[in-house]
Amino acid sequence: MLTLSELAAAKAACRAAGTRGSVGFLPTMGALHEGHLELARRARRECQTVVVSIFVNPLQFDDPADLARYPRQEAQDAALLAGAGVDLLLMLRREEMYPPEFATRLSQTPALTDVLEGAARPGHFQGVLTVVAKLFGIVGPCRAYFGRKDFQQTVVLRRMALDLELPVELVVCDTVREPDGLARSSRNVFLSAEERRRAAALPRALRVVQQRFAAGERSGPALERGLRADLERDLGVSPDYAAVVHPTDLSRREQAQPGDAVLVAARVGRVRLIDNHLLGATIGPFAEGP
Ligand code: AMP
Repeated sequence: MLTLSELAAAKAACRAAGTRGSVGFLPTMGALHEGHLELARRARRECQTVVVSIFVNPLQFDDPADLARYPRQEAQDAALLAGAGVDLLLMLRREEMYPPEFATRLSQTPALTDVLEGAARPGHFQGVLTVVAKLFGIVGPCRAYFGRKDFQQTVVLRRMALDLELPVELVVCDTVREPDGLARSSRNVFLSAEERRRAAALPRALRVVQQRFAAGERSGPALERGLRADLERDLGVSPDYAAVVHPTDLSRREQAQPGDAVLVAARVGRVRLIDNHLLGATIGPFAEGP
């Protein structure tokens, strides 16, 4: 496995890989965990060459403190990726990605980028769109693997790939969870033991939404109210949002349908947790402790 920090060399290596067969690409911000590795393993099974990028993208952080403390563990990440059979690791540097003359920002309709996560994190999706478009430019035609944990991200990126006719096939992979259901995340390391215990209320509450839906509840607002109340009781804080939305245009649902997305976010201590569930899919049961 090569570690490349020269953009031109990275591009040449990806193009060369493309001539040998399909390229699977997995963009990450490092601090890798089982969620990332599951994506890498799937790409390994499905593609000839697997490329992973690690770049903590300053453009998508609305909070400088969050950027400054974002966990970085490059040597450990490289070893984990080698173990998962990744062929090419692109460790990208800020100066290469965003030289002083860099002037482009991608934006999308506010209906997709300024709601939910975007409302809580102004500019976040503009940063995501811009960096992922650049990464797609570096890697070239590929199958790109993303986690459903970041549901809204998959929606905006799919829209971008379709709108711009990018030679990229998006593959969305299931959320990898801890035994108690908490979605794996690089930021979970910042939870105290007590916060970590409470955090499992998120997936448990999503499971209850699924049970209510399966029992026949179809009112979007009623499902949202129940979810919010469960979280206030078990998580001990009000969620930033608890929403039942259309899976591709993110509009709020009056009448929920199978395949609709239930999205939640809540701040627990210093950590903003997000999770989601597609109505009709299986979720849990989960173990009692982490
Ligand atoms: P990040 O490094 O947080 O930007 O994540 C890189 C990719 O891994 C994104 O497509 C995430 O959605 C995905 N990912 C992160 N956590 C998980 C998880 N628990 N399960 C599945 N995919 C994940």
